[in-house]
Amino acid sequence: MRIGVFICHCGSNIAGTVDCAQVAAKAALFPDVVYATDPMYTCAEPGQAAIEEAIHSHKLDGVVVASCSPRMHEPTFRKTVERAGLNPYMFEMANIREHVSWIGRDIEANTRKATELVRLAVEKLRHNRPLQAQEFPITRRVLIIGGGVAGIQAALDCADGGIPVVLVEREATIGGKMAKLDKTFPTVDCSACILGPKMVDVAQHPLITLYAHAEIEAISGYVGNFSVSIRQRTTYVDWSKCTGCGTCTEKCPSKKSYDHFNEGIAPTTAITIAFPQAIPKKAVINKDFCRQLNGKKCAVCAKVCPTGAIDFAMEDSFVTENVGSIVVATGYDLMDWTIYGQYGHGRYPDVITSLAYERLMNASGPTGGHIVRPSDGKEPKSVVFVQCVGSRDPAIGRPYCSGFCCMYTAKQAILTKDHIQDSQSYVFYMDIRAPGKMYDEFTRRAQEEYGTHYIRGRVSQIFPDGQGQLTVLGMDTLLGRPVEIKADLVVLAVGIEASRGARELAEKLRISYDAYGFFLESHVKLKPVETNTAGVFLAGVCQGAKDIPASVAQGSAAAAKVLTLFARETLASNPQIAQVTAKRCVGCGKCLRCCPFGAIKSSLVKGEEKAEVIATMCQGCGLCTATCPQGAIQLAHATDDHILAEVNALCRL
Ligand code: FAD
Ligand code: SF4
Ligand code: SF4
Repeated sequence: MRIGVFICHCGSNIAGTVDCAQVAAKAALFPDVVYATDPMYTCAEPGQAAIEEAIHSHKLDGVVVASCSPRMHEPTFRKTVERAGLNPYMFEMANIREHVSWIGRDIEANTRKATELVRLAVEKLRHNRPLQAQEFPITRRVLIIGGGVAGIQAALDCADGGIPVVLVEREATIGGKMAKLDKTFPTVDCSACILGPKMVDVAQHPLITLYAHAEIEAISGYVGNFSVSIRQRTTYVDWSKCTGCGTCTEKCPSKKSYDHFNEGIAPTTAITIAFPQAIPKKAVINKDFCRQLNGKKCAVCAKVCPTGAIDFAMEDSFVTENVGSIVVATGYDLMDWTIYGQYGHGRYPDVITSLAYERLMNASGPTGGHIVRPSDGKEPKSVVFVQCVGSRDPAIGRPYCSGFCCMYTAKQAILTKDHIQDSQSYVFYMDIRAPGKMYDEFTRRAQEEYGTHYIRGRVSQIFPDGQGQLTVLGMDTLLGRPVEIKADLVVLAVGIEASRGARELAEKLRISYDAYGFFLESHVKLKPVETNTAGVFLAGVCQGAKDIPASVAQGSAAAAKVLTLFARETLASNPQIAQVTAKRCVGCGKCLRCCPFGAIKSSLVKGEEKAEVIATMCQGCGLCTATCPQGAIQLAHATDDHILAEVNALCRL
């Protein structure tokens, strides 16, 4: 073999603590190495051109690059060697940046370690054989999970790009949190007016199939060919007959059902339609509050429904959809703030969440947009907003910032003044975080134009004063003195958390999540909407706190990734996959059970059960090779021979 070795300086990233020239000089002495050098930036255009030139001039048939993480640049260099006529898998990489230069300062030790890593890469390459990728056809349809503004944007962009969309929404209507908002910062335009038309577009788009009140049951397959089982949760209403007329909701005698859409600020009937602009605008029975479904005689809705849509015998049903790509846009939930005793544990009716306050201000909310106190229906004149309730609080395991509370609190203070001219708002804050376009100006408007009193400090206690008001005790840390305010209403800017069931969904999708349950992007800076599972993309707050403009931008970015993926009719498979040696396989089935991708099936070979790898499904994770007690499965380019060759090379040092 004729191997070329390139030891990258990565500017001073590697060369600062590794003697690259010395590593190259030592590498030149390794078996089969005919050329070794130490360029400044191997990944840059001149660096890649130098590799191509060396392949030609030194007649190389294999290349090792020692530089940064293969996650970053392995595909780059595979393409480089391919351009020069080599098989892309006759290439190996040694990570001497993250694994060496960034973690140690001792130049001598680093140089020694880098040399050893290069020795291993050369040894591995010597055992490599050219591999060929297979082309496989893809299903050019996309699944979008979550119908908030991020999912809606992704769905519309994909569908407008000609890709059929399957949109699965857990609630009875799409719209997510934005559908609950009154007006939106920083323009204070009506949320329904900007979201409503997009929701209607989803309903009317010929390429979008919407499953509302539905959840993902199971997902199998791989990029280009996923099979998705969707659980359609029972609504007790046949939606193919329901016209959304609302007669049932008017007549339903059970009026104490928790109103999820209105954040519980007033009870609702057992059969409901989320809100007037709901998409789909269909009725759903809340089983917990329905008299008929709890053994009492009722069925009033069934009697009054003009289309005979009520079906008390309805059960969950399942559909299977085949798609080639998935966008996850499951958003967020508010954390359970009632853990805070200092705010009353949820016992005081006039201490409410910011999302409930949006419903109070909203013209389509239960009060018709009149801000009133839940306790007595009176207009509040003194409103205290408390920011960072459950955000940036390491004591409860939530050290992260919820991103948009500073901004919406300023918005809510402005709107309070618009609704109640003689009101006074107070905001307790830790810091004001307003980095977006026109955002800082907006928070200043709340103070200067609308007279909102901002107090830097935390609230230590809220309790009823016995005369119909709440006493709010806090600390003004700028003035260094305690503060006491009499409030008619207290609005808590409750911190966000990953949406319910996010971790379970991540496991079904085989994507990663961070310590708080938000889904992990593939690369923080360069792959912000990709995940580590090919073909699965992220949009919106499910990946981390962001406001509506950022969620919409990410929805479009995810759609662009889907459209790019589907620009081709076929995809190339990864040839570095598991291979079964049939005569060693005893058919025990252990590999079948351990493969997380369902990529192994059992086949009859000469009447005997043998494992068989489905090439297009195998992701090359290597679990089966480690599990097989017979050593009957080997991973191409990570065979026992490869590993032993590396170990032997280390032992020879
Ligand atoms: P979401 O709106 O949370 O939507 C996610 C959707 O996914 C939901 O419909 C949910 O039901 C669904 N879902 C969840 N899990 C599943 C599952 N497993 N299967 C299927 N579906 C699922 N931002 C602004 O820019 N301006 C504002 O004025 C503003 N005001 C705000 C006021 C308040 C009180 C709050 C709390 C937030 C405010 N925001 C504002 C932020 C805004 O709510 C978010 O930026 C936006 O909702 C993010 O959209 P999303 O689609 O990522 O998530
Ligand atoms: Fe109208 Fe019947 Fe639908 Fe209720 S279930 S909204 S009564 S069509
Ligand atoms: Fe499944 Fe083995 Fe392929 Fe991993 S390497 S995906 S366990 S067949």
